[in-house]
Amino acid sequence: MPESFLVQNKIKFGASTWFFQEQPVITALQKIKKVGFKAAEIWMEHILKTGEGLDKIKSAAEQLDLDISLHGTSYDINLTSINKGIRKESHKQAEEAIIMGRRINARVVVLHPGRLSSSKGDKKEYWEMLLDSFAFIDRAAGREGVEVTIEAMEKRPREIYVMPEDMEYMLNREWQNIKLTFDIADSYTVMEPVEYLKRIRKNWICHVHLSDGSPGTTHLPLGNGNIDIDSALKALTTFYNGLVIIEGYVPGNGKEVVRGNFNYLKKHGWVD
Ligand SMILES: [Zn+2]
Repeated sequence: MPESFLVQNKIKFGASTWFFQEQPVITALQKIKKVGFKAAEIWMEHILKTGEGLDKIKSAAEQLDLDISLHGTSYDINLTSINKGIRKESHKQAEEAIIMGRRINARVVVLHPGRLSSSKGDKKEYWEMLLDSFAFIDRAAGREGVEVTIEAMEKRPREIYVMPEDMEYMLNREWQNIKLTFDIADSYTVMEPVEYLKRIRKNWICHVHLSDGSPGTTHLPLGNGNIDIDSALKALTTFYNGLVIIEGYVPGNGKEVVRGNFNYLKKHGWVD
């Protein structure tokens, strides 16, 4: 990688605290910093699991000089569930994520889009529900003064927010506070990430997730899959200067995996 990329590159690389989910959030932040990252994505599930105070988390991040993003809860919830109780709870937790994001001073709050409850469902109904969910989220984000970014998902049976056309349908509207999280490994489940980037509007992207992937497996450590990581990052640097967050929890092996990912980025000239 030529040195010029590093000089021009204003991207800040970070890691997900979920790598260290067995430990407190603040310990995770310390470890991510110690490896050399400049940012961290805190998983809301992590905060809910340990019960650490939001003020303490906020000041720990400030002291460590880490830029923070917050990933809202995703397990077992679905904004477009046909089960009304689940749907209501999913909206409640999305709103809680937005409030939490403001309280810990997160640059962005990442939320998952809805998905089908059943693979036999009528997709049109789900798109209608998803539009309602986006409107709800856009209002909540406006109230709290937070930027929300909805993640483009990997291709798997019940996901609906996957392809560039899906982003076009949902994002080419008058949202005030909703943008896109581009996940390099998720995009690879449908096409080369560089090709995917060509097909979406650059100004939608305000957050990026990074991991490697191979056909059939997503979120591998960098260098362990088939994705052309350098080309994807090079394409991003032409227009993007936000956070790039490494993902890919491996049970009990957080420290080695986070360090391995950092070393990969260093070897390829993306971090110093
Ligand atoms: Zn996610």
